[in-house]
Amino acid sequence: MNPQPAMPTPSEFLPGTVALVGAGPGDPELLTLKAVKAIASATVLLVDDLVSDGVLAHARPGARIVHVGKRGGCKSTPQAFIEKLMVMAAREGEMVVRLKGGDPFIFGRGGEEVEHLRAAGIEVQVVNGITAGLAGLTTLGVPLTHREHAHGVVFVTGHAKPGDSGTDWQALARTAHQARLTLVIYMGVSSAAQIQRDLLTGLPAHTPLAIVQNATLPSQRHAVSTLGELRATLDHEGLGSPAVIVVGDVVGGLAALQAPDALARTA
Ligand code: SAH
Repeated sequence: MNPQPAMPTPSEFLPGTVALVGAGPGDPELLTLKAVKAIASATVLLVDDLVSDGVLAHARPGARIVHVGKRGGCKSTPQAFIEKLMVMAAREGEMVVRLKGGDPFIFGRGGEEVEHLRAAGIEVQVVNGITAGLAGLTTLGVPLTHREHAHGVVFVTGHAKPGDSGTDWQALARTAHQARLTLVIYMGVSSAAQIQRDLLTGLPAHTPLAIVQNATLPSQRHAVSTLGELRATLDHEGLGSPAVIVVGDVVGGLAALQAPDALARTA
């Protein structure tokens, strides 16, 4: 007898609960249907920096929208305060949506927020979004994995928590080289010089890379280069945050296409 496939239960976004919702990389058309439903159900929305206005257009009229990122007026809302706000609003019977850029569980401190809400006895659900590292290279028509070029992909942060020694780039470079992995670096622009230096201990200078800034937004810009030229390319092209840096042979075809001499220069 064939087991019946389980029907997904339609999601509900109820008063007194919180939903951590992935707003995707920028383009509002990349929102999931579930994200749109959550946003439209919210009476209070706590919104991060990197969430575009087109995403907020799905909020119901009269919903309270609180910008808690650096561009929201205040310098940067402390994490503890955001968590307190969510708990307070949920206890007051609001349907709270915490809107985060990309996916809430990729470098978004979503894990910490879920733990905090659960510890406070608040019901919380998480709605995935398309993470910037996935969207960035896709906008250039290049896959993160490819049977000929990359067996896997690593999402890694260039920004360590204060007091943490951070990513071991040298170990990562060796592994990426041996195991043929694509590296997708988030928050790597400000420490690009050091990342470049350390990655070069295990990866060849001619390893292709792409830098994609404001992926999927009308303001998107990108550059294709090589690991040996990472810092110079950022400076030369004037690229800055938010950007993902994608390192690996999957970028190679694109690099050759766009800048036929880029690979030859450092080979
Ligand atoms: N949760 C987010 C990541 C938050 S960390 C996600 O899943 O995408 C913030 C970093 O994400 C930025 O420094 C940048 O590296 C990356 N990022 C976010 N939006 C981006 C975009 N539209 N284009 C390129 N990089 C982006």
